[in-house]
Amino acid sequence: MSAIDKVLDSNQRYADGFNQGGLPGNPTRLRLAVVTCMDSRLHLSKLLGLELGDAHIIRNAGGIVTEDVLRSLVVSCQIAGTQEVMIINHTECAMLTFKDEELAAKLRRETGEAPVTPTRFYAFTDLEENVRQQMRELRSHPWIPESILVRGFIYNVDTGRLLEVSA
Ligand code: ZN
Repeated sequence: MSAIDKVLDSNQRYADGFNQGGLPGNPTRLRLAVVTCMDSRLHLSKLLGLELGDAHIIRNAGGIVTEDVLRSLVVSCQIAGTQEVMIINHTECAMLTFKDEELAAKLRRETGEAPVTPTRFYAFTDLEENVRQQMRELRSHPWIPESILVRGFIYNVDTGRLLEVSA
């Protein structure tokens, strides 16, 4: 059985017991957006105690404020009423284990191709500094209102605890 077949089975059971239809999507109940990594060890709704309808969750490799994350956050703040944004990176992130140039060179070598995108992978070496950099990216964007509260955190995958990173 493939992984997709396995999760489709789970969805059948989920839908059988589902009784939360009709929830409003926007604004979210907490007017909160979270930008975080795609890592499978971060169970966002559990580690933040989120219920259905509570927050926008925006995920990518590393929890990086890329152009597309900015796009989502502008919509979240300007259209959907979000007032607070959390940026969450985590210990043992895969983005700490390679360098952009090395991976790009390896892939060019192996495939013989140099595609237009992605232009970069956003690998990093300093976890705290990476969180600060994402906060700066967000803070400096002219379409993210000054009134939006932005805070950054590191999640420890061994303890389950969030540690705040000073701006
Ligand atoms: Zn990660």
